[in-house]
Amino acid sequence: MTAPPATQPTLAFDTAFARYEAIRPRLPAAGTPGAGRLAAGLRDTLGDFDGYLFDSFGVLNVGETAIVGAAECLLSLRQLGKPFCILTNAASYTSAEAFHKYQRLGLDIHPEEILSSRDVLFRHLETAHAGRCWGAIAAAEDRFADTEADLRHLHDLTDWDAAEGFLFLSAVRWTVADQDRLVAALQRNPRPVLVGNPDLVAPREDGLTVEPGFWAHDLQDRAGITVEYFGKPFGDAFAIAAERLGGGRLGMVGDTLHTDILGGQAAGHGTILVTDHGLFKGRDVAPFIAASRIGPDWIIPTI
Ligand SMILES: [Mg+2]
Repeated sequence: MTAPPATQPTLAFDTAFARYEAIRPRLPAAGTPGAGRLAAGLRDTLGDFDGYLFDSFGVLNVGETAIVGAAECLLSLRQLGKPFCILTNAASYTSAEAFHKYQRLGLDIHPEEILSSRDVLFRHLETAHAGRCWGAIAAAEDRFADTEADLRHLHDLTDWDAAEGFLFLSAVRWTVADQDRLVAALQRNPRPVLVGNPDLVAPREDGLTVEPGFWAHDLQDRAGITVEYFGKPFGDAFAIAAERLGGGRLGMVGDTLHTDILGGQAAGHGTILVTDHGLFKGRDVAPFIAASRIGPDWIIPTI
């Protein structure tokens, strides 16, 4: 991925957390908070689970760097016969590109062990919306090679009314002016909006960047439309991943409360929060668990 341009807005942590809480009515219900057992690593949770769902950023890697111990953890799960699936909200690039990235990082992950929110969205497009012409909000280099659906870069369309619906895959080029234009277009002519990354923010070197989910909730607020979300914490991604793993007791391993932990619990899985590398890096997670009442079963610093 290329670095975001300076125009991509950022949010303060407390602002992002408050926004996640404000949109809770639009997220699945979290269920009963887990016990929050503290442990040193994933090995301490092995007795509880037959297989694992892993978030990527903040759990296996941070950007283009693998987290120390991640490769060994995946290898030991293979040796123990515990299946796993990477369940990521990365919608800017294809699962084939994700596979090559993991190869570069030295992580032994097979193509069929990767499920991105982009895959879930494209699967839905081909079954529920055949023949529709979409204006896609996406990274400039995205060729949409992994879908048969009719996608055009929204930034290449002079007339946004030419789009029969909108897909939000990447916020890397999206600006406040673009958002205002889309709100006006939807107020004038309401159309479906489908979001391939429900995250509000993503941790980067220089702060939390605003992601497609953030803009999509703003669209719902301002244009009065319904938006469909694909990826964590919503159920479709969990259902497809669990089917691939053949069921059993599954543990969702992630670094965020409102996507990984809430989504895992809502799907009926166990949950393991990783605190040292992602959203909660450098913070005490306890007050945020108390405030949100999203409580993981386990809390580990790293896998
Ligand atoms: Mg993450």
